[in-house]
Amino acid sequence: MWMLKEYQLLDIRLSLGACDASSSKASLKNFFNFFNSFNSFSSAEGRFFEQSESEELPPKNIMKDSAFFTFHSSILIALLLAHASFCLGQEERGLSPTAKAMERAGYVNVAKAVPGIHISLMYARDDNFTGRLLYKDLREAYLHPRAAKALAKAQRELKAKRPDLSLKVYDAARPMHIQQQMWDVVKGTAQQDYVSNPRNGGGLHNYGMAVDITLCDAATGDSIPMGTLVDHLGPAAHTDAEADLVRRHVITPETLKNRKLLREVMHAAGFTVLRTEWWHFNLITRAEARRTLKPIP
Ligand SMILES: [Zn+2]
Repeated sequence: MWMLKEYQLLDIRLSLGACDASSSKASLKNFFNFFNSFNSFSSAEGRFFEQSESEELPPKNIMKDSAFFTFHSSILIALLLAHASFCLGQEERGLSPTAKAMERAGYVNVAKAVPGIHISLMYARDDNFTGRLLYKDLREAYLHPRAAKALAKAQRELKAKRPDLSLKVYDAARPMHIQQQMWDVVKGTAQQDYVSNPRNGGGLHNYGMAVDITLCDAATGDSIPMGTLVDHLGPAAHTDAEADLVRRHVITPETLKNRKLLREVMHAAGFTVLRTEWWHFNLITRAEARRTLKPIP
C-alpha cells in the first residue's frame, strides 16, 4: 500500500507548522509538492487496477485501504489549502494597497531580503526636496528581485569591512503614478532636470532597478556624514570632482572616505553611482530596462 515518504511528512508538518509572513509561500509550495506526489500515486494505482481487471481482482483490503486513503487525503488536502490561504491572507494583512500591488507584481521587500538593512523612505515624509509627502501609503522599500539580490551582496561586502555600519535605503522602487506626481511638482522649476519625466519612460526607480542609499550606524540607524543631505540638488552632491570639493572645503576628507566606502560596496555588487547624486545607484542601464522590463504602474 502507498505510504507517505519521510520528506513528504516533513513537507506536511512544515505546511501545518508556524504561520508567519515568510512561511506562507513555502507552505503553498509544500502543498503543491504533496499534491503532486498524491497525483503520481493515483495514476500509478490506476495502472495497477487496469492490469488487475484483465488478470485478477485486487485483494479486498487494498480496495478498502484505497478508499480510506482517499477520504483522509481529501481532508488533509482541504486542511492544507485552508492553511495556505490563511497564511497568505496574514502576510498581506497590514500592507497598504501600494505594497500589496508591489508584492503581487513580484517585487521584493528589501527589509526581508537584506539582513540588518535600515529603511527610511524620504518620500514617505514631507521633508524631501519636493516638500510634499508623495508615498501616502508606502512605508516599505521594494526592488526588482535582481536588484534586491545585488543589494544583499552590497550589505555583505559592507559587513565584511565595517560590521558597525549598515546600508540605509532612502528610496527604491517607485511606481510610475508617484513619478508623475513628483514630475508635476518640479515641472517648470529649476529642479526638473533632477526628475525623470514619465512621458519619456521614467527612470530606473520606476523599474525597481535603482536605489537611493547611504551608510548608517548599524545599531542606531543614524546616517554617517556624506557632505550633503540625501536629496541635495547641486554640485556638492556630485561625484565626479570630489577631490576639488575637499580642496575647497565644501566637503571634509572624512566625508569623502564615507562616500568612497559606499561606492566600493555598491560597485562590488554591480551597481553604478549617478554623477550628480552620491546616493543614487543603478543596477542596469535605462536602455536595458526599457528593452527587457515593464515599469511599475
Ligand atoms: Zn534616486
